[in-house]
Amino acid sequence: MHIHIPFKFKILHYDWVVRWEPKRGKLEENDCYGICAHDLRTIYISQTIKDKPDILLHTILHELAHAILTTGGYTELSDNEGFVDLISGLICQIIYTKKDLKDPTVPKPVKEEKQI
Ligand SMILES: [Zn+2]
Repeated sequence: MHIHIPFKFKILHYDWVVRWEPKRGKLEENDCYGICAHDLRTIYISQTIKDKPDILLHTILHELAHAILTTGGYTELSDNEGFVDLISGLICQIIYTKKDLKDPTVPKPVKEEKQI
């Protein structure tokens, strides 16, 4: 899965940006691959994981979870690294295990017929 960085997005009516962080600096201090800077509405991702797609996806989802929870007013949950990592890790698993359903035994959604 290719993820193009930088990219921007919205949470509620707030604009956010995801950028590469070329210097380890803060990331190294915190021994992590990403940082969610709420005050700048920016997520910094370490360039050291540029060629590691599995870690990159999990890191982006992890930082997005922080951004979503904080923006939504759930600061305590955002500060709970275990919770944030559980949610982001499981969304990662859903993305990687997702398969299109081509089994004909799976019923198709019924179209509503137009009433005259
Ligand atoms: Zn975190």
